[in-house]
Amino acid sequence: MTRDQFGLSGAAAGGAIFDLIRRGGPLSRAQLVRRTALSKSTVSLHVDRLLKLGIVMEQARQTDSGPGRRSLLRFAAGRGTVVGIELGVTSIDVAVCTLEAEVISSASEPLDIGSGPVAVLERAYQIIDQLLADVGEGTAPLVGIGIGLPGPVNRTLGCVVSPPIMPGWDRYPVRDEVATRFGVPCFVDNDVNVMALGEARAGGARESESFLFVKIGTGIGAGLVIEGELYRGFKGSAGDIGHIGIDGETTRCSCGNRGCLEVVAGGGAIGRKGRELAERGESPLLAEIAQRLAAQDPPAEISAVEVGQAAAQGDTAALELVIESGRHVGSVLAKLVNFFNPEMVVLGGGTVNIGDAFVAAIREMVIRRSTPLATVDLVIRRSAFGDQSGMVGAALMVADELFSVERVTDMVREFEG
Ligand SMILES: [Zn+2]
Repeated sequence: MTRDQFGLSGAAAGGAIFDLIRRGGPLSRAQLVRRTALSKSTVSLHVDRLLKLGIVMEQARQTDSGPGRRSLLRFAAGRGTVVGIELGVTSIDVAVCTLEAEVISSASEPLDIGSGPVAVLERAYQIIDQLLADVGEGTAPLVGIGIGLPGPVNRTLGCVVSPPIMPGWDRYPVRDEVATRFGVPCFVDNDVNVMALGEARAGGARESESFLFVKIGTGIGAGLVIEGELYRGFKGSAGDIGHIGIDGETTRCSCGNRGCLEVVAGGGAIGRKGRELAERGESPLLAEIAQRLAAQDPPAEISAVEVGQAAAQGDTAALELVIESGRHVGSVLAKLVNFFNPEMVVLGGGTVNIGDAFVAAIREMVIRRSTPLATVDLVIRRSAFGDQSGMVGAALMVADELFSVERVTDMVREFEG
């Protein structure tokens, strides 16, 4: 076996070249030679193999006067389609995507995770079948499915483990069941991790090497991207910031502890505290909204959304609640910023949209409580990607797994014979 100066031997060089093309393409052969420090002939040999394997394709340059050497190489993203799913606590988002996670077709609807895995997955199957039928036969074959789940995920087992708010899901074999149903590989991860991946590759954090994605919805969680890669931690629970304790808070959390960030300042907590303000008569506006919602058919309750609306209309108690919640989130994020020194903090999840005052309070607290060096160029902003980051991130996860350097190295090795 020969070893080039880049330290890559045989098939591993093919895997590395492919990864450069997939993530940074289109690239010319000359650019690949410069970036890998491999010899021209080695690059050429592996490019030919990748072309024959059908996972890389030639793309003519616009200025190209003739065929052949001057063409660019890019990932053959049209050779398969993937399905990305984000299962939330109260909703499902499904997208059929290219291997570069461009959405071909998508659907979203309310769905209660509490109705259990059998009912939820059955509905997911119906939506997937419908979307695949809609995009039609001209589309490339389905090659994989990715799912973001709203709980702690054991990726080795392919299931959720001990989720605080997902009755019936504990160790339910989600990955294996979906893979069997569709006859393609399935990959699962925590929903916040797939959202962070979506932000890193296709969202607003593409230029950022190391950032923190924070999802504030019913619960609170974070995804860490370090030097372009998602960091999952030793057992996959990295970023589970919703259960960091807030000093002096005693509200019992679904995890069994007291005073966790999400039970103090998450979307569910803001709604609950808003209802208390209405009941105690401390917010006339929320009391009025509560009455109106109760009279609806079906009757509804105040959620974080109504608290945000009341705050925006100048209701003092609602505004104080929004600011206090934002400060709690900000105080935890300040500690993380001190520890991790990210370039950017991206805020996503439905509760982030309850009002500017919420984000302003988070930002103020992070700036006030972090060290100056950690915040001097720190960008804190809302996700510009909106509802798509989960399903797009889940689709990207599939492409990352199916076309990992290791897998492609194996493909090249088998091709070598
Ligand atoms: Zn907790």
